[in-house]
Amino acid sequence: MRLNRRDFLKALGVVLGGFVVWGRSLLRAQSQPLVINQASGRSGIAGTVTEIVTGQPLAGATVSASGLTSTVTTDAMGQFDLELPPGIYEILVTAPGFLDMSRVHQEVGPSSLLVADFAMVPLNPSEEEAQIIYERLIASPQGSLEQAFLAPGQQTPQGIAPTVTVPSTIVVEWPDGTQQTLDLDYYLKGVVPFEMPPDWPLEALKAQAVAARTYAVAYTQGGAKPICTTTSCQVYTNDRFPGSNAEMAVDQTHGQVATYQDNIISAVYFSRCNGKTTRDSEHAMGSDDNGKWLVCSEHPWNYSPYLRARSCNGHQPYSSSCGYYGHGVGMCQWGAYYWAEKPYEWDYLRILNWYYTGITVTKSPPAPISPFSGALFQVGSNITLMWSAGWANYLGELQNLDTGATIQYGWTPSTSWPLGAWALGRYQWHIKGRDVNGVETPFSTYSRFYVVQHVYNTYFPRTDKNSTSNW
Ligand SMILES: [Zn+2]
Repeated sequence: MRLNRRDFLKALGVVLGGFVVWGRSLLRAQSQPLVINQASGRSGIAGTVTEIVTGQPLAGATVSASGLTSTVTTDAMGQFDLELPPGIYEILVTAPGFLDMSRVHQEVGPSSLLVADFAMVPLNPSEEEAQIIYERLIASPQGSLEQAFLAPGQQTPQGIAPTVTVPSTIVVEWPDGTQQTLDLDYYLKGVVPFEMPPDWPLEALKAQAVAARTYAVAYTQGGAKPICTTTSCQVYTNDRFPGSNAEMAVDQTHGQVATYQDNIISAVYFSRCNGKTTRDSEHAMGSDDNGKWLVCSEHPWNYSPYLRARSCNGHQPYSSSCGYYGHGVGMCQWGAYYWAEKPYEWDYLRILNWYYTGITVTKSPPAPISPFSGALFQVGSNITLMWSAGWANYLGELQNLDTGATIQYGWTPSTSWPLGAWALGRYQWHIKGRDVNGVETPFSTYSRFYVVQHVYNTYFPRTDKNSTSNW
């Protein structure tokens, strides 16, 4: 089951010029994976597993591929090579004392060797190690203050985008222009651990997960447009930490975004404050064109009522003359870390409401999608009601306005209700959602109305658009 060892080492030497060190695996994941064509006709995945803190090779780590039972173990140099038939795999690396790590969507072609390096994150790091992990793992120490996703005509980030339904999927666009449609939470599991280390306190990570989801929903305008994978948007990679606090945080905040006066907020964050306060948005610290914090001067941003200077206790100030690591606006990550720890033990809602003044963590209720309101149906037509996704379960309610009879559908994870043939009458329906924790939305604020009558041309719209009652 072994690849040609000499070819493998030669390839590594030529292409990488020596050891793969921490941080590089992230860069590789962002760009195209390294593929080496093999004359031998064999195919597989090979690479090096290191410890992220020391950069030293990690021997004895177990490497496996999804759907296959064979595993290999890293040698004294931390190297592995795993022969695989062509296909698309999730490569999983496990080692005692370290978080599991995987890389999804690894495409192995015929006669090709894919290079995949892994930097493993230790369980229970010391405080000093935690600092090092942060520096090496986190792709960008601050959320972008860019306003590229401001709605047209909107001049301030007071509410940066009208509240939209949290979509169930999102389209990511890689630097080479290829696009991938992903489940929103699956996407977030490739974002959150590179914004906040995956072994941080759960409640801090839940705050970060809500911030990342809020950003993604705002940027994509509710899933309508793609989001890039680089620091220009928020960094997304194929790397995962299965079972980590980061993944639990995404699951436990499913569908949740932060809003201010019913608008999606700009949920910006940064690494460290001066140990005392964050900054008002109009006193943001400067950054370069890549969004990296660089200079000790103010880089005034728009006034925002929910991005106010807040006290930020718990951690040592950032030791520079600027006093901030990052632009200083919004959530201080190291502050969130300590708010989540003893003696404070704040939950994520309290953390979010601390750094984003006056916001609400909300999910828009599911909304009817089809049929559109005012549709006419021929009696006996088979009608299926459909609504937007984003919740764990749904309850639909249909009322016959002539008889007053009401029927319900749910709770169900399905986003459609196949009602079959309807009798004559006028109908109205609405929908509500429930999350994994059992928290329910109210029914959708607007309803859909239909008339079932003796007509032959089914399903055409009424035209009285001004009617608020849709009649
Ligand atoms: Zn702080």
